[in-house]
Amino acid sequence: MSLVVQKYGGTSVGSVDRIKNVARRVAAARERGDDLVVVVSAMAGETNRLVALAQEICDMPDERERDVLLASGEQVSTALLALALRATGHKARSFLAHQMRIRTDNAYGKARIKSIDASRVRQSLRDGEIVVVAGFQGVDEDDNITTLGRGGSDTSAVAVAAALNADSCEIYTDVDGVYTTDPNLCPAARKIDHISYEEMIEMASMGAKVLQIRSVELGMKFKVPIHVRSSFNDAEGTWVVEEDETMDALLVSGVTYDKDEAKITLLGVPDRPGLAAQIFGPIAEANVVVDMIIQNASAAGTTDLTFTVPKADYKKAVAVVEGLESIQAKGITVDSKIAKVSIIGVGMRTHAGVAARMFKVLSRERINIEMISTSEIKVSVVIDEKQMEKAVKALHQEFIENQAAL
Ligand code: ADP
Ligand code: ASP
Ligand code: MG
Repeated sequence: MSLVVQKYGGTSVGSVDRIKNVARRVAAARERGDDLVVVVSAMAGETNRLVALAQEICDMPDERERDVLLASGEQVSTALLALALRATGHKARSFLAHQMRIRTDNAYGKARIKSIDASRVRQSLRDGEIVVVAGFQGVDEDDNITTLGRGGSDTSAVAVAAALNADSCEIYTDVDGVYTTDPNLCPAARKIDHISYEEMIEMASMGAKVLQIRSVELGMKFKVPIHVRSSFNDAEGTWVVEEDETMDALLVSGVTYDKDEAKITLLGVPDRPGLAAQIFGPIAEANVVVDMIIQNASAAGTTDLTFTVPKADYKKAVAVVEGLESIQAKGITVDSKIAKVSIIGVGMRTHAGVAARMFKVLSRERINIEMISTSEIKVSVVIDEKQMEKAVKALHQEFIENQAAL
C-alpha cells in the first residue's frame, strides 16, 4: 500500500461535473488500496475573479485582507470534492490550512511554508478517510491567513507529500505533462518523460507555469518524486526527479515565456557609488522581487537604470522609487507590455555559442532585444509582448525541433 498525494488544478475542478470526475479518479485509486491525500486549487477562474473584486475596491488592496479573500476559493473546492467523494461511498474529510497547521511566514501573497503538522492527517488516514486539503493557503504565527503566490497549490501538495513522507506527489493538470514549451502556444511542443529538478526549477522560474517554482525546490530538497500528468486521461506524464544518466542530454531542453513582469526605467540618475544600494534596498524591503537589471553607460555624470519586477508589484515599486528623494531621477517610465523569453538546458554548461545562436534567430525574425540575462543553464531576453509568440516558435524550431541529442 502506498501513500500518494494527488493535486488537482483549477481546470480539473472547474465545474461540478469535473469535480465528480476527480472524485471518480480518487475513488478508483483508493479502491486499488492506496492511502490518499488530495490537494485542490480553486475552481478555474475563481482566484482571478477574487483578485478583480479587490481591485474594484482599491488599487493597492491591503495585503492581509486580500489573502483572506483569495484563500476562500480553495475552501469552496475542497468542501465540494469532499462531498463528491462521500457521494461515491467513501469516507472523506476536508482540511483547511489552519486545521492542518500549515505554518508560513507572514509575507502575504507570497508566503513560504515553514512547517506542517501531519498528525491530524495521519489520524484521519488511520480512520480510513480520504483527506482533502485546501491548496494555496497557510496561516502565519499569529494565525493570520496567508497565500503562497499564484500557482501555490503545487507547493502545498509537495510540502504535504514531504511532511507525510509520501511515496509520490502527482500533479494533475490540463496538459499531459511538462513539454519542451507551452503546448497551448506552440503545437510542435514535445512531452518530456523525465526532467531533473534543477532544469525544472529553471523552467518554472522562467515562466513555465505548469509547476510553481517553490514546489520543485521543495521536491528537490525533500526528494519527493513529482509526476505531472493529465486529469483527463491515464497517460503517463512527466517525472520530475534527480538528474541521472538516462536523461537525454540536450543542449536546450525547453523554451519558456513570461508575461508577468514589467520594466521600470529611471532616467538620468547620478552615476555615483552607492546608488544601486539606495534604490534596490528599499524595493527589497517592500518585498518586491527584482529580476533583471541593466545600467547604461554614463554620459555627463548621469545614467539610465532599467529593471524588471512582477507586474503585480510594479505600482508598489514605482511608489517606493518616487519616495526616494535622494535619487534625483529626471524621470521614471514603466512598460508593462513586455515578455521575457528564455531557453534552458544543462547542456549549455559545456557548450559555447548558444546565446549567439539565440540572438541570430531573433535578429532573423526582426525581433528587438531590450534586455538580456544569462546563467549557467539559461539565456533570457526581454522583448515586446507582441513578438513573444513568434520568438517562442522560432527558438523552439531552432533548438528543439532541429536538434539531435548531444
Ligand atoms: P493548473 O490549474 O492545473 O495548476 P496551470 O494553468 O497552472 O494548471 O498550469 C498548466 C498550464 O501550464 C498548461 O495549460 C500550459 O498552458 C501551461 N504551460 C506553460 N509552459 C508549459 C510547459 N513547458 N509544459 C506544459 N505546460 C505548460
Ligand atoms: N488558486 C490559486 C491560483 O489561481 C492557486 C493555484 O491554482 O495553484 O493561483
Ligand atoms: Mg497551476
